[in-house]
Amino acid sequence: MDLTEIRELIPECCNTAAIDINEFYDHKKEHLEDYLSSVKSIIVLGHHIEKFEEWVWNQFKFETEACIADVHTKEVMKKISSYIELQDHNSKIIPYSGVSGVRFKKIAAKSNLGEIGDNHLFLHRDWGPWVHLRVIITDAEIESSPQNKVDQVCIHCDNCIEACPINAIKRNDFNRQRCKDRHEKLNLSHSCEICAKNCPIGETPEKINK
Ligand code: SF4
Ligand code: SF4
Repeated sequence: MDLTEIRELIPECCNTAAIDINEFYDHKKEHLEDYLSSVKSIIVLGHHIEKFEEWVWNQFKFETEACIADVHTKEVMKKISSYIELQDHNSKIIPYSGVSGVRFKKIAAKSNLGEIGDNHLFLHRDWGPWVHLRVIITDAEIESSPQNKVDQVCIHCDNCIEACPINAIKRNDFNRQRCKDRHEKLNLSHSCEICAKNCPIGETPEKINK
């Protein structure tokens, strides 16, 4: 199967990339094999967040705790899944990290969609942190996306480090607990967004909609 066939199924607000399962370390492979033992390829879907309502960073504990972007990406994933099954292959949409333990951003960072920035968010090569990720696996062989590695996306400008009100971000270090505590203290269902808003990569929904 060719990734271009999958790309034809997805709307313009989304991007996709494929990764050969053999590019994963054995223990990560095993994790995905729990969902589909014959897995050969991973497809990552990134949806461009253009409205603040779509922005959710906190992990969902239940699949029912979805945001608008997640409902959308799941719909696109179902379309991809139906297409794969029409080609006589199996597929499995991986539940969100809070349920599956599979870190989508780590998988996406293996693709040509982007990399993990100093703010610990996945940075899409064009949209920066304003992206919602989903992952589907299949037993179809799909060639890995060309240029499987992107050039550097995070420019290490330190904007996020300086902007974070509780100093959770350091170069090559992220204090997840501090960030989580702040969210819990403020009772935020969405991320506080400060580090994302100060990242020069991509455009904030505010800028897109002005
Ligand atoms: S989301 Fe807020 S608290 Fe967490 S790292 Fe970013 S700026 Fe800091
Ligand atoms: S604000 Fe600068 S250092 Fe932080 S993630 Fe964005 S580009 Fe990287």
